[in-house]
Amino acid sequence: MGNNGIDLGVIICKHCMSVIDTLPTERVTTYYSDCQEQDCLITRGTNDSKFGSVINLMPATGGKE
Ligand SMILES: [Zn+2]
Repeated sequence: MGNNGIDLGVIICKHCMSVIDTLPTERVTTYYSDCQEQDCLITRGTNDSKFGSVINLMPATGGKE
C-alpha cells in the first residue's frame, strides 16, 4: 500500500457541500458538481423559495434507500 494513491482532488456538491467523490490528483483540487441526493434536491427547492412548504410534508428519514 503506497502513498501514491491519495486522492487530493475532491468533487463537492455545489448545493449541499457534500463530498460526492474523490480524484487522484497531484495537488489539492476542488471540483463542484451536484449530488442528485433527494435531500439535496429538496433543499434546492427550499433555496428557490418555491417549494418550501413541501419540506413540512416530508417524513423524517434517517437513511438512504
Ligand atoms: Zn447536494
